[in-house]
This record gives sequence, structure tokens and C-alpha cells, in this order.
Amino acid sequence: MGKTSTKQKIAATELNAIIRKCAIINAMQYGKAVSSAVMGPVVQMAKENNLPITDIKKDVDLMVKNINKMTKTDLEGAYAPFKTEVEQKKLKKAKETALPNMILEGVTKGNFIGRIPPEPSGYLHVGHAKQAILNAEFAKIYAGQVNLFIDDTNPDKEKQEYVDSIIRDIKWLGINYTKIYYASDNVEVVYAYARKLIEKGKAYVCMCEQAEIKERRVSGADCKHKGQSISENNVLFEDMVNKKFKEGKAILRYKGDMNSQNAVMRDPVLVRIIEAPHYRQGNKYRAWPLYDLSTPILDSLNGVTDIIRSKEFAMREELGQTLLNELGLRVPRMHQEARLNIRGNVTQKRVITKLVTDKVIDGWDDPRLMTLMALKRRGVRPNAIWAFVLKFGMSRNDGTVGLEMLMAENKKIIEPMAKHLFFVKDPRPLEIVNLTQKIVKLKLNPNSDKDHREYTVGSKLYISEDDAVKLKVGSIVRLKDLVDVKILNVSEQGLVGETIDQEIDKKDNIIQWVSSENMQKCKMLVPNTLVNNKGEVLPNSLTIWVGFVESYVNNLKEHEIIQFERVGYVILDKKDSLQFIFISK
Ligand SMILES: [Zn+2]
Repeated sequence: MGKTSTKQKIAATELNAIIRKCAIINAMQYGKAVSSAVMGPVVQMAKENNLPITDIKKDVDLMVKNINKMTKTDLEGAYAPFKTEVEQKKLKKAKETALPNMILEGVTKGNFIGRIPPEPSGYLHVGHAKQAILNAEFAKIYAGQVNLFIDDTNPDKEKQEYVDSIIRDIKWLGINYTKIYYASDNVEVVYAYARKLIEKGKAYVCMCEQAEIKERRVSGADCKHKGQSISENNVLFEDMVNKKFKEGKAILRYKGDMNSQNAVMRDPVLVRIIEAPHYRQGNKYRAWPLYDLSTPILDSLNGVTDIIRSKEFAMREELGQTLLNELGLRVPRMHQEARLNIRGNVTQKRVITKLVTDKVIDGWDDPRLMTLMALKRRGVRPNAIWAFVLKFGMSRNDGTVGLEMLMAENKKIIEPMAKHLFFVKDPRPLEIVNLTQKIVKLKLNPNSDKDHREYTVGSKLYISEDDAVKLKVGSIVRLKDLVDVKILNVSEQGLVGETIDQEIDKKDNIIQWVSSENMQKCKMLVPNTLVNNKGEVLPNSLTIWVGFVESYVNNLKEHEIIQFERVGYVILDKKDSLQFIFISK
């Protein structure tokens, strides 16, 4: 009895110290302590210290009253011992809630206009998605906007088909851009700035041969055209614009420095002649501005405040900024993002095109590729790509990561919604001699009693080869949610067993099955890493499985994601031929 009372006394003293501490912190934070606000932290802290809580309202009220009587100096003195602890807690909380690396230097709320600048010369892949998502996320964080800028001033490479797929993919990612604009709609605007550069003596028309230009970039010598007068350059440039030059016969060059450390600054090309018709502008223009000239101008004119670009554009940045300064245009802020590669991924258009032509892969949405259309096809959800990208944020470290990292994010999203079905790979017959007919009801989701599939099951079943090889005469196995079976015979033709009543408790002895009366034949594509680090296509980059699936499969929608129990997550790629694609474990 005496012992308990000492214990209680200590507890009461400790509890009182906690009440005092919480009241002081509350008073320091809000100027005055309030009982109802002190209660919560007291209860929590008491729990953390294993203190029993009885009726403490009176004690808290009294403490709050006393603390509120203290002078400011006294209160500060009383608070001093808790100060470090409180600040550390605050910092920890701030770190936990803020996304890592999602801060843009110099940007404030309401002061962000970003842009997603794809060239319509191919399909978007994970790398593009990263840039697009970062821009869209910053538009949210900074209450700004993001625009889609179709960077299309090379008629040789661009197609409407690519523009359409870019728009489709960006929308699929869930990015709502405010406006879309095209570089090729602004060629005249860019011409006007090119003329301004000529007027300022900062650009000249060069008619040297390709090889000669290349050679001088190495030797550092100027060509004879650099000395032309402004009026000569004016005339020559109008000849370029007015289609007087054949392709490759004239270029407009910036008057840089042929000896610059930065190779980009060695009199770079600003406008060149391309005779091929443009997918959007037809034959309207023959003098096409290069990305280096048109993009900085159009970014600046369209109000872009911040440019998120990867390292490989660092050398071009000097040129862009020099041109804008020369033209008296506002220079956006530049931010560098790291490159994010997925191991075994192929992104180069040239390489993918060849793989398609050689029939190594079956198109740009082949599930082994990391194009957005391929990821979509193999069951990767757009919010998984967001979560994956935002994990890296604006980190400066280039990284190559495995696809598992993206798939782990994807699993979090698909797991709760995926229906469960049984799939039997490389089916082996199993006859259960004493099973006449049985109606089974199987849960579509193991965590919910709501939805079922129901079958009338007879004696003829199938199990997968992988499970069958482990069974011998006398083995006991549970057919999930059906019966426990003892194996009586194993032969080339299959297995024979009988049901038993004896309990089995070994979890690893539970296998999936399909009934011969309620199954469909199906096929599954299992994509693996496409290339090794030398870029060579791996022989097992795609495995094809065949098997049986429950006939409930007929109720699935095309592109529905489900889980094959003990196999993994799969997407119904083609409903008519029952072709699935394996997503992940
Ligand atoms: Zn020249």
C-alpha cells in the first residue's frame, strides 16, 4: 500500500511537471496559455512517459491560470530549458512535410511560369516526364502556371503524329497546361529579332562549306564572311528568307568568338535553310531558326520566368543569355536538374526506330520501352510516375536507377484496387477422384467480403507446372478456398488426388488452381531489361507465358489491372486474344 502511494506520488509530480511544461510552451507560442490547447500535448507526453492519466482538467486549469500570471521575463526564463527541444521538433516536422529538393532558387508565390518544351520528333519518355512533372509541380507549389511549348523548327524531323502523342501523353500524366504554343507559328517574330542582331553588327550570313566551318571552329580562325558590312548581311539574310538559297548554301551566324572556351560560342548557327515541307507550316518558310535562337526569344516573350533544364544544355545557356541581353529581352531564371535514367532503358529515337524496323520490338509502346505510351500499356499509373519523379525533385545528382523503384510506387497505387484471380502457368491436370461437384465462392479482394466470383467445380482441375513438380505421391496440398488434397498418383498425363479432412497448417502448401469447366486459355508477356550497358539487346528481354485463367476474366475490361495470386500484378493488354502484360510482383 505504502509502496503504491510513493509510486503514485512520483507519477503525480511527473505529470505536474509535464502540465507545467506544456502550459509554458503554449503561453510562449500564443502569448497566453489556454487550457483546451494544453490538454492535447499533456495527454500525448504522459502517454510517451507511461504515466497514468486520471482527471487532469482541474490541474491543467490551475497551472494555466498560474502561468498566465507570470511576467514576460519570468515566462521566458521558465521557457529557456525547453527552447532547443521545441525548435528541433519544429524543424523535424517541417522537414517531414516538405518534399526534398522541391525548392526553386529565387521564386516566390505567384511568380512562376514554366514551360514544357518537347520537340515533336519522337514520343515522350520518362526523362521528358520528369521535366514536365517538375514544371507542373512547381506551378502548384508557387501558384503559377505551366505551358506547353512545341519546339518545332526542324521540318526534317517533326510530324503531326508526334505532336498528337505529346499532347495525349502530357494529358495522361495529369498535367493541365494553361496554353499551348508553337515555335513554328512565330517564325516571323524570330526573323525580326534576327534582323535586329544583324543591325547591331552581331550576326552575319556565312556561305562557307560545312567542312570549312568545322575546320575553323577547331583552328579558331574567322571566315571571310564575318567581315561583311551590315547592309551586305541585310541583303543576304533577306535572300535566305525569300528562298533564294538552296539547302545548305547559307546560314546566319552569331558573331561570337571562334576561340571561346565554350565551343557553342564559336559563331553558332542561328538560321539555316531547309527545303523539306514543315508538318504545320507547309512550304511557307525555307529559312528555319535554330533552337538556340528561337527558344530563348519565345521563352522571354511568353513570360516564362523559370527554365528547368538538364546538364547537357548548360553550354547552350551562355548563348541564350547573350542573345537575350543583346536583344534587350528579359532573361528567365535557369535551374539545373539532374538526369534520371532507368537502367536498361533506350531513349534515342534512332535506336528505337531501328529496333522497330528490325522487328525486335513491336512498336513505340512495346512494354520493354520507357516511353510514356509503353509505361501506360504495361500498367504504370501516372501518379506513380509523379511520385517517382518527385522523390528526386531538383536533386543535382545524376542517377541511374532500376525500374523497381518506379514499380514500387506503382504498386502502392494498384494494390488496393486490383481484383484477385487465379492463374495457372503451364497447366498440369489434377483429377480429384472423390470430388463430385462443389459450388465455390471466391473473394475478389481478400480484404473485402463484398465482391465474389462463383464457380461450380467438378473433379477435373489444373494446377501450374511449378507447383506440380513439387508434389509426390502422398503429398498433401491445399487448393486455395476449395479443398485439401492428398496426391495418389503422379504420371505424364497429370496428377490424381483425393480430398481429405485432415487439417494442414503449412501456408506454403496452399496453391492456386482453375477448374476445367471455368477457365480460359491466356498468354502473358513478361518484359525484362531490353539492353545491357553496352546497348546490346538482351536475348531474354521478353518472355511469353501461357496458361489458364479463371473464366471470370470475361468480366474484365480491357486495360484493367488485376493481381494473379502468387504471380504478380498484370494488365489485360488485349481482351479479344486474352493477352496480359506482367507489371510487377
Ligand atoms: Zn563563311
